[in-house]
Amino acid sequence: MTRSVTCGGLTIGGGAPVSVQSMTNTDTRDYPATSAQIGRLFESGCDLVRVSVFDEKCVPHLRKYQEGAPGPLSADIHFDARLAVAAVENGFAALRINPGNIGSESEVERVVDCCKAHGTPIRIGVNSGSLEKDILNAHGGVTAGGMVESALRHVRILEKRGFEDIVISLKSTDLRTTVDAYRLIAKTCDYPLHVGMTEAGLPGEGSVKSAIGIGALLLDGIGDTIRVSLTGDPALEAPLGISILKALGLRGGFRLIACPTCGRTRLDTAAIAAKVEEAFKKETRDITVAVMGCVVNGPGEARGADVALCGGVDCGALYIGGEYREKLTGDVAEQFIARVRRYLDERDG
Ligand code: SF4
Repeated sequence: MTRSVTCGGLTIGGGAPVSVQSMTNTDTRDYPATSAQIGRLFESGCDLVRVSVFDEKCVPHLRKYQEGAPGPLSADIHFDARLAVAAVENGFAALRINPGNIGSESEVERVVDCCKAHGTPIRIGVNSGSLEKDILNAHGGVTAGGMVESALRHVRILEKRGFEDIVISLKSTDLRTTVDAYRLIAKTCDYPLHVGMTEAGLPGEGSVKSAIGIGALLLDGIGDTIRVSLTGDPALEAPLGISILKALGLRGGFRLIACPTCGRTRLDTAAIAAKVEEAFKKETRDITVAVMGCVVNGPGEARGADVALCGGVDCGALYIGGEYREKLTGDVAEQFIARVRRYLDERDG
């Protein structure tokens, strides 16, 4: 098991539930746009939101961003120790920096002292695009081993100063290199790992790539916090991250089983499943609901569901705990949603 760090009220690592994060893409100097997007990202399911702090015009807003946010914020900073210190002093819950390029020895010292004084963890984020030249030369290009070597080089800079509140990420545009790098570092140290694929792409292919990479690692027990990176609206990222966790049984709440439909389908399964998902997507109580197209195979295939609907001609058969209960007619979707609500209320009081 990894050790744990605390960012605001959020624990990362040490067996804590895997958290989900995203990053703003508004101009951080634009307070109204960025504070609104921070709110939207937490609303979309983020446990932590990262904000790039790239020049001194961002600094006057930092305290208001963190104070106005419903959860912890992390400041993403490159090459400027003063900005890192400003973010921590203004209450940001975490930093993402690479100590090897944040400045001189004394500047690193300043950042570390400031983080120690405020109990602020540092994520070291190695990206394939910014690997050090000597490492690229020694490894013959971007390799998993080279990424790990780079991360450990940054880690040692902090450890040398007695700082161990560290999270590590190792992101490459190549999925296999990323997965190999995380597997390698998980064998090498016990710092918590932030897992994600960088520059995954537009939501379609990017989602697939992220689910494969993040999913493969989580199945191995690797990953304490995740970020799905997509080009476009960042509010799409956390729901996808949450879906990955739910698919792996790492997060509870509402789970939907829906059959792929076939020639036996007797109800508009896709439309009903979409309505059911919309009705319960924010449900935090654990429940598995199935929407199946027929009563031939549906009941058997939905056996694992708490509540299931199996399609008949202009009607639906309701199953609870695998047992047939009643026939639903009329607006089958609405009736089914009402039965699921009633089931939850009766079960959980
Ligand atoms: Fe076809 Fe019925 Fe299976 Fe759906 S549940 S895929 S309709 S056999």
